[in-house]
Amino acid sequence: MIIGIVTYIFLSLGVALLARDRNLGMIPAFLISLFLTPITGLFAVIHSPKLILYHIVQHECPECGYSFDKNHDACPICLKDGKYVPLHPNIVPTT
Ligand SMILES: [Zn+2]
Repeated sequence: MIIGIVTYIFLSLGVALLARDRNLGMIPAFLISLFLTPITGLFAVIHSPKLILYHIVQHECPECGYSFDKNHDACPICLKDGKYVPLHPNIVPTT
């Protein structure tokens, strides 16, 4: 009996972990799994859209092609050569 309950809770936790990168979220997924069985929770997680997180990864210089993860007003490499090349961040989705 206790082993069944523990297994049930662990299955619910597993479903909650699967919901980490989903719109549904971990706590709702865990509660759905706990109260409506882990199979229902799994369906809810699968049908929940994936979260798309955007962040700035790099500032690429169009002149020399170097990328910087820190924010610079202008490319420091081109600046050494006397050229002022403003940098623009590339915003890309995380994978
Ligand atoms: Zn440059």
